Amino acid sequence: MARIVVLGAGFAGLWAAIAAARMREAIGEAGRDIEIHLIDRNPYHNIRVRNYEVDLSEVALPLSKLLDPVGVSHGIGEVEAIDPARRQISLVTSSGEETQRYDRLVLALGSEVMRPEIPGLAEHAFDVDTYATALRLEDHLTSLGRSAPSPGRSTVVVVGAGFTGIEVAAEMPDRLVRAGINGNRRIILLDPNPAVGATIGTQARPVIETALSSLEVETRLGVRVAAVEASGVRLSTGEFIQARTVIWCAGMRASRLAASFPCARDRLGRLLVDPFMRLADVSGVFAAGDVASSVVDGLHPTVMSCQFARPMGRFAGHNVVADLVGQPMLPLRIDWYVTVLDLGDWGALYTEGWDREVRTSGQAAKATKQTINRKRIYPPLTGSKDDLFAAAAPTVQAPPPTYGARRN
Ligand SMILES: Cc1cc2nc3c(=O)[nH]c(=O)nc-3n(C[C@H](O)[C@H](O)[C@H](O)COP(=O)(O)OP(=O)(O)OC[C@H]3O[C@@H](n4cnc5c(N)ncnc54)[C@H](O)[C@@H]3O)c2cc1C
Repeated sequence: MARIVVLGAGFAGLWAAIAAARMREAIGEAGRDIEIHLIDRNPYHNIRVRNYEVDLSEVALPLSKLLDPVGVSHGIGEVEAIDPARRQISLVTSSGEETQRYDRLVLALGSEVMRPEIPGLAEHAFDVDTYATALRLEDHLTSLGRSAPSPGRSTVVVVGAGFTGIEVAAEMPDRLVRAGINGNRRIILLDPNPAVGATIGTQARPVIETALSSLEVETRLGVRVAAVEASGVRLSTGEFIQARTVIWCAGMRASRLAASFPCARDRLGRLLVDPFMRLADVSGVFAAGDVASSVVDGLHPTVMSCQFARPMGRFAGHNVVADLVGQPMLPLRIDWYVTVLDLGDWGALYTEGWDREVRTSGQAAKATKQTINRKRIYPPLTGSKDDLFAAAAPTVQAPPPTYGARRN
């Protein structure tokens, strides 16, 4: 029995596993001897892009509902190490340490928010990087809402004014209301860069600034955090901002396990893969999603996003089976790039192209954002193998819909 192991059940890993099962079935007799096994630390697929939202009730989907219908087995465990020479994975499960072998591997362990060595950060800061940490923030806000008024109770400091930090800050007015924290509210978005959304681009910035100002989100730019305490943040200038809630959103880095392979990586720690999602120099290993970088249109490398992670996963899953049975693999090519940034009650921002030209904003863009977050990126929940296989086909979707788009 040949064994394909998929590591990670996020946007790349889930779709790699289902696409591999689809291809296994498509090749008939030759697929009979292929086992597909997925490993994740959690028993669910997290719709990670929604972890900043007010309502977290539909962002963790049980893996058994998605993988059992397509005949993919899964195990829960923390992957500790990968040995490409022996084709072995070391993991810790509820029963202890174990080693598993693979014939082919799809690495899809994603990324993590960067956590520099800042005093107090690990103990006192919150984040929305995973479902578990998003729930921790939700519990904290709920308990703050039940507590007596105290200094910093109504102040939230969000560190990092990139995509995630802006979405977190823009959603915060609603989240505070829901937690019962009204009055004297302050939401402060802080970044070492001199501008909000420095990585998002100059065309989008005025829209973001308008939205933040309408939501009464303050910005503190050109400053660094020196320390985080239970009662607030100390800035590099020496200033102390009293805040019971500090949310860390300062950029993402690929899983440290990407370094297990003797292959080229970029400045975010991502493994460079070819259009088939293969690692150079290490046979039998594919990588997809935030842990990998692939040039998708002959020019631009993928951006850490579900927009790329999902098709990378589908192609990696298809190709890992094709590689195993000696069939031709399919190259991934994507000719479009969009970003859709949630801006809370104000609406959203929809940009097109690598220069991020603004196409729609406000409530028109919000309609697109909600279609993406609540429908487009969800796997079928019907429990039907055919539905799951149809969604896992190695094809590239058209861009998401725009409502009332401006065209140049
Ligand atoms: C709040 C937030 C908002 C975002 N908004 C957007 C957006 O609007 N648009 C967009 O395109 N992207 C957005 N992103 C980025 C997007 O979520 C990621 O690019 C995407 O999740 C990458 O998919 P992935 O499968 O590579 O990684 P992930 O989704 O991170 O999945 C990795 C999986 O691996 C598992 N795992 C990791 N390490 C281990 C280990 N050692 N052992 C076992 N299991 C492990 C994790 O549990 C997880 O299930 C957002 C991210 C966040 C945090």
